[in-house]
Amino acid sequence: MTQAGTSGLVLNEKLLFEHSEPGRKGYSLPTLDVPEATLPAELCRDEITGFPELSEVDVVRHFTRLSTWNYGVDSGFYPLGSCTMKYNPKVNEVAARMPGLADIHPATPQALTQGALALIYHLQEDLAEMSGFSAVTIQPAAGAQGELAGMLTIRAWHEAQGSTRSKVLIPDTAHGTNPATAALAGYDVVPIASDGVLSLAEVEAHMDDDVAALMVTNPNTLGLFETNIEPICKLVHERGGLVYCDGANFNALMGIARPGDMGIDVMHFNLHKTFSTPHGGGGPGAGPIGVAEHLVPFLPKPLVVRDGEAYRLDDDRPQSFGRLLAFNGNFGVLIRAYAYIRSMGAAGLKRATEMAVLNANYIRARLEDVYDLPYKNRSLHEVVFSDKNLAGGCHTLDVAKRLIDYGYHPPTIYFPLVVKGAIMIEPTETESREILDEFCDAMLVIAQEASDNPDLLHNAPTVPKVRRLDETTAARKPKLKWEG
Ligand SMILES: *Cc1c(COP(=O)(O)O)cnc(C)c1O
Repeated sequence: MTQAGTSGLVLNEKLLFEHSEPGRKGYSLPTLDVPEATLPAELCRDEITGFPELSEVDVVRHFTRLSTWNYGVDSGFYPLGSCTMKYNPKVNEVAARMPGLADIHPATPQALTQGALALIYHLQEDLAEMSGFSAVTIQPAAGAQGELAGMLTIRAWHEAQGSTRSKVLIPDTAHGTNPATAALAGYDVVPIASDGVLSLAEVEAHMDDDVAALMVTNPNTLGLFETNIEPICKLVHERGGLVYCDGANFNALMGIARPGDMGIDVMHFNLHKTFSTPHGGGGPGAGPIGVAEHLVPFLPKPLVVRDGEAYRLDDDRPQSFGRLLAFNGNFGVLIRAYAYIRSMGAAGLKRATEMAVLNANYIRARLEDVYDLPYKNRSLHEVVFSDKNLAGGCHTLDVAKRLIDYGYHPPTIYFPLVVKGAIMIEPTETESREILDEFCDAMLVIAQEASDNPDLLHNAPTVPKVRRLDETTAARKPKLKWEG
């Protein structure tokens, strides 16, 4: 490594020299025994050219201006169904920024990170207590990765019994990640029909000796509680299968009912939904999973365990399906979720669930005479309408775009797939009665506009910086490079 500019390592070496104090005791440059780097010559440069010359104030103004074009939970109502866009209390941020937690390196010796390990351990315990599971791991970095961790745990359990079952049953209301996960874990997906909720007969009709698991969401994506869940779990178990629960909708159960008590074998939590850590724009999240006792040995490793007063990462888990991540989960998200649980307390968490359910039912009651409600059962924390009753050739997309003109983030649209033109509204518990009323007023005005002047909807949005986007072209021919 003699030629400056041919290898990133040379630059790093230079940096090390520049920032080191050569006289300092114990300092020595690490010797890097790596082959000569082979970066193409045209990528190696000694000078960076073409960067804009800007003052600090120019940069601050640019980004501050852009930030005001954004829309988030801190700027307004965000009823994006299934995503649980609740307010993220700022006390969570205070906790996550404490230097003792924020500045630790993941490779720091465990003797020096006892506080962080204790936090993870107690978070695992709190989640296990709330959900009725024997153990929880915080490893998965998203809900979807929690699903994968859960299905690999189920797979490892089956393999330990010498079983080679190949199918997973998934109801038609499921989130797209469920079939994707089952396929990624090596299973064939068998879709099963539900009529709002899953019937025992439908599960029984598909349950054979080749079914490894049923993946069910409870409450499901229609916001309906799966009322047959206990007999369904019993049946699947009797036929040698396991039941996975997608816990993305745990905000409807927290403090009230425990999936572990219903017979569920594995469930993921979305800390960034139920436990108020910020999300949107792609992350970061955290998707811990809880499991019943028979599955504990198969969980990914390491697990944070407690020996007397000490906490440690337990890697000695011979039946584990292996590691999911290089390190130990999205720790910043875990801190925020733990701060949320501790600041809410058991009674506060239960109250949050009650308010989330009340708010969704309030919206349902205010809109159901105008917007079509395909499933009449009383819903839990979210409510799904359709565009069937809309006049003027207006559809769900038009309502969503018109809501932007009224200052709201649109609800989830065209999901779940079992409802044609679905409008899925999840208000969450953190909204006031006034906000819910203003939103419902806007929804009712929009329905009226659809019959009086439908072009107001067809041409929406007109207020924001960008008008209606060509989403089809954007999806099919994405421009992923900056064209300045
Ligand atoms: C959000 C969600 C998921 C996926 O969770 P991510 O954390 O986004 O990976 C899975 N299922 C349902 C029902 C969801 O709402």
